[in-house]
Amino acid sequence: MSDPAPTCSVCGLSCEDRPFAKDAKGRVICRECLDAKKAQRAGPEGGGSDLMSGLLAKSKMAKATPCPNCKSYMPEGTVVCAACGFNTQTGKASTTRVSVVKKESSFKWPFGRKK
Ligand SMILES: [Zn+2]
Ligand SMILES: [Zn+2]
Repeated sequence: MSDPAPTCSVCGLSCEDRPFAKDAKGRVICRECLDAKKAQRAGPEGGGSDLMSGLLAKSKMAKATPCPNCKSYMPEGTVVCAACGFNTQTGKASTTRVSVVKKESSFKWPFGRKK
């Protein structure tokens, strides 16, 4: 009986006809996953953490723009100004606010109504 086809322990695909390696625990890992793993490891530990945080801070600074309409601070990812309703994507101040209509549904007494 021959050994069963090696299967990558990461992606679960058969490594029968592709290059693979075995890790310290004897688990089969295909070349693609191995490379991906290596790239992942090299990423944060390769002295890039400072660079990454710097880039993040920069992008945050770039995104935190004041409202072009009322100049109030708009947090990252905000499209509509919370202060005046100005939409930075359409360039228009939305007058139609999201109206939260209070449902004044007929109050139902949970215990049944006494007559
Ligand atoms: Zn794999
Ligand atoms: Zn505004």
